[in-house]
Amino acid sequence: VPLPEKSLIARIRRMAASSNPGRPRNSSVLAGIGDDCAVLRLTGTPRNPRDTLVTTDFSLENVHFRRDWHSPESVGHRCLARGLSDIAAMGGDPVAAFLSLAVPRDLPQLWINRFLGSLIDLARKHSVTLCGGDTAESPAGILADIAVVGTVPQGKALMRSGARPGDRIYVSGQLGGSAAAIEELMTKPRRKPKPQDYLRHFFPEPRIELGRILREKGLASAMIDTSDGLSTDLAHLCEESGVGAEVQAEAIPRAAVGKPRREVDLELALHGGEDYELLFTAPRGKSVPSRIAGVPITQIGTITRGRKILLRSQTRARQELKPQGWEHFRH
Ligand SMILES: [Mg+2]
Repeated sequence: VPLPEKSLIARIRRMAASSNPGRPRNSSVLAGIGDDCAVLRLTGTPRNPRDTLVTTDFSLENVHFRRDWHSPESVGHRCLARGLSDIAAMGGDPVAAFLSLAVPRDLPQLWINRFLGSLIDLARKHSVTLCGGDTAESPAGILADIAVVGTVPQGKALMRSGARPGDRIYVSGQLGGSAAAIEELMTKPRRKPKPQDYLRHFFPEPRIELGRILREKGLASAMIDTSDGLSTDLAHLCEESGVGAEVQAEAIPRAAVGKPRREVDLELALHGGEDYELLFTAPRGKSVPSRIAGVPITQIGTITRGRKILLRSQTRARQELKPQGWEHFRH
């Protein structure tokens, strides 16, 4: 049974405030949990003015996670990782998180403790302070809504709309690994995949450092994170930029999952979501390293003038790549 609201908030406050040697509390946070509002100073200094980034994400039981599939640690980690990944996709620095949590009356308090512990661990790792939120009883299922606030130097946020014909298209890490875990869970319900064999699904690492470096070095012209799947996220980027794209099937880096490790099918790499990698474009002349902040970077195609997204392959005729998105696989 969950703690009454007052003691639950007191516990969250204790957990959020507990010290963590070597990782100072974010200096933009003037006051966190404990007053009517958190107080943040996000504008930077006159010499270093900054813009504010805000993103919110739902994590809903039986939509984004299942209690029989995902440990509370995985749910807490993924809940915050989704928001951090959006900040990364703008080239931003995350500052503060706000968590609104509604739980059913019969949920064990231990579940909440493990969920919060994991969420706060990830927050600390990125010097993000949990600065507030709300709690309530849910009539059915766990509902977690996270807001993440960050900053970026004024005018420097990396938008989806900056891609131009001729730009090269790059993706970080590998694709399809998260969807492969869902596929395992659905097709072999008795043999649960081990989190360590499907880390990108159960504990995705948001690409904060990579996003920051791409922004600092001025490498990327447009960027988005791969939350819905390459075909859908590339379509978003192209739509916002008013361009098309050509992608080379063999170039797409496919995740290696399971034990023994096997490469996922092209279909999963093209359409499977929730990998939280960064998909970005860079002008033709820019030299983009093959590894940044320890993360492999792969060129997968080129931005074109037409509005279509085409998939080229050595073995098949060129075809249009339609956004099939993640929902298609989820159901
Ligand atoms: Mg996003």
